[in-house]
Amino acid sequence: MKICNPATEAIIAEYQEDTAETLSGKFSALKAGQKAWALRTPGERLECIRKFGDLVRTNKNELAAVLTAETGKPIQQSLNEINGAHNRIEHLSEYAVRVLADEVMTDTGNTHEKITYEPLGVIANISAWNFPYNVGYNVFLYALVAGNAVMYKPSEYAAMTGKQFEKYMHLSGVPRDVFQCVIGDGKLGQSMLELNFDGYFFTGSYKTGVHIAETVARKLVPLQLELGGKDPLYIADDVADVKQAAIHAAEGAFYNNGQSCCAVERIYVAESIYNEFVEAFVQEVGTYTMGDPASPDTFIGPVTREAQLEVLAKQVEDAVHKGATLRTGGERVPGKGYYIEPAVLINCNHEMDIMKEESFGPVIGIQKVSSDEEAVRLMQDTGYGLTAAVFCADEQRAKAILDVMDTGTVYWNCCDRVSPYVPWSGRRNSGLGATLSVQGIRAFTRPKAYHWRKPS
Ligand code: NAD
Repeated sequence: MKICNPATEAIIAEYQEDTAETLSGKFSALKAGQKAWALRTPGERLECIRKFGDLVRTNKNELAAVLTAETGKPIQQSLNEINGAHNRIEHLSEYAVRVLADEVMTDTGNTHEKITYEPLGVIANISAWNFPYNVGYNVFLYALVAGNAVMYKPSEYAAMTGKQFEKYMHLSGVPRDVFQCVIGDGKLGQSMLELNFDGYFFTGSYKTGVHIAETVARKLVPLQLELGGKDPLYIADDVADVKQAAIHAAEGAFYNNGQSCCAVERIYVAESIYNEFVEAFVQEVGTYTMGDPASPDTFIGPVTREAQLEVLAKQVEDAVHKGATLRTGGERVPGKGYYIEPAVLINCNHEMDIMKEESFGPVIGIQKVSSDEEAVRLMQDTGYGLTAAVFCADEQRAKAILDVMDTGTVYWNCCDRVSPYVPWSGRRNSGLGATLSVQGIRAFTRPKAYHWRKPS
């Protein structure tokens, strides 16, 4: 498999892809290795993960350069991701031993009832490229600490980073037959669906997620899906500072070039502040430096996949055709690299794909609304249910809007953020199950009930 740098279109690495045969050999090794790993205590397993975290931090500059080279993520954002993802290890250090311990529920007379949390076994982790540290850690670190073995398939667009995870995992004391990174594209992912894993944990698009769910359904093993979003942000008329709101909204929309599952994908603005907001927003986007992602000043790099350029161009064209105004950007940058100027479309409506279909790139649609009721109706007018955000001064007002959102996460005066202390979950087309938090530790276990009757 050839790895292409999306900023230069140069081939920067080549890997021997895994095949159905190598996959099957690795799977058998993981099956055997998991048994010994499960016999270690959660504290011992956590110790390996902590060492892994230390090694990643020690080598973060080299690792950030790799991530930037293969995905086009601006180097400062690659470093932010590596530093930020470490909070998963802090979360596990605080909670895992306690959450994985046996729970005695009843101890009266000669009746003793307890719950133990057994690992699932060998799990398949099929992953995405946009935040490989964040979304990878959410699954494989938690699975390993709970006593599982993991076959990790990074996206074909983040294979080098996947191989680095494997290297540092083994250097940290996680045995080779407990964590394996396999290399390949969707075809290899398909071969993983044919093996009898004890759980499937997927991060990626709705289309692939549904295909995986259908394919593994008859295995009756746990399945979790972290899928896409079309996350709305509503700027209400009592917002404390319109300019600041515009700066935050633009960052939520364009960070990582809009390639975040929880990026702000559409914005609704109260009509009384609409013009002021739009001007501040367009001005802010005008300050972004686009260019070589290896340069520390770059905020907008290339998009990772060339094919996405066409999706974005079509969304812009569709919106303009249906009456939107393109205030800035939207042009493909000539020359090498998959660059598109960050695009801001205003006067949008829900006839336009840009307000309903996931963009996953540096384009945003802005729509004027006349009331909270209209904002709520439009925010919910999508098949996705990942996150929803409101910027406003009044907490009760925000609560009334966000309480009715059918999304896994809601944000008041913030957006596009993930914390390991609360669950990360999508509803409807955004997914199934939850990672992170206490629930994200338990997700990698099966409870067993012990009913103990002591002879009197
Ligand atoms: P994708 O669905 O194209 O690919 C994801 C993974 O699935 C890759 O590893 C790919 O090789 C594999 N795959 C493809 N076809 C397969 C098949 N038939 N069987 C098994 N595996 C197969 O998605 P992507 O482009 O890598 O990621 C972008 C999407 O991921 C966006 O929709 C984004 O919103 C979503 N995402 C969601 C979250 C979240 O936490 N909810 C996080 C990151 C990304």
